[in-house]
Amino acid sequence: METRIAVTDHFDVIVAGGGTAGVVAAVVAARMGSKTLLVERSGSLGGLTTGGLMGVMWGTSDGLSGIGKEIFQRLLEIGGAQGGNIIPFDTEALKQVLCGMIKEVNVHLLLYSMVVDVIKEGDQIRGVVVEEKQGERLCSPK
Ligand SMILES: Cc1cc2nc3c(=O)[nH]c(=O)nc-3n(C[C@H](O)[C@H](O)[C@H](O)COP(=O)(O)OP(=O)(O)OC[C@H]3O[C@@H](n4cnc5c(N)ncnc54)[C@H](O)[C@@H]3O)c2cc1C
Repeated sequence: METRIAVTDHFDVIVAGGGTAGVVAAVVAARMGSKTLLVERSGSLGGLTTGGLMGVMWGTSDGLSGIGKEIFQRLLEIGGAQGGNIIPFDTEALKQVLCGMIKEVNVHLLLYSMVVDVIKEGDQIRGVVVEEKQGERLCSPK
């Protein structure tokens, strides 16, 4: 089937997948000043951690550092987690925290959208094809 590209957008950083890894990558890229796109095929952020109803992080809260600690503290602030030797957390609260962090730094977020292909020049990825409700769009580096 012929691929139809509806819209072309340019970004410094494009992250495929809004699980915890993807959200953190997108937030950090945007905090460093990059125009960032985050593409997530489901309707919420957090991937397996939220959608898989994980509910408990194994590890002591005192041992957290960096952005993991920041996420935990944001969860604590809204009553979405408890500290201790294991960390029980509310998956809906984590979705809220991750979404807030994305919004704060103006990451361009596409939900219900899937990266379905990449455009390559030699070994370099020049863009990704994103399939969403309106059709397909090509997103490429600036
Ligand atoms: C029961 C259970 C308990 C666990 N406990 C712990 C724990 O205590 N501590 C710990 O550190 N880890 C734990 N893990 C592991 C942890 O959940 C995973 O390591 C973590 O969720 C991986 O995050 P991720 O962002 O890399 O991937 P995922 O959470 O898998 O996220 C990937 C995201 O990418 C999206 N996606 C995929 N393909 C595309 C595409 N083509 N286009 C757009 N979006 C796409 C998916 O929808 C998803 O949202 C546990 C896992 C399970 C199942």
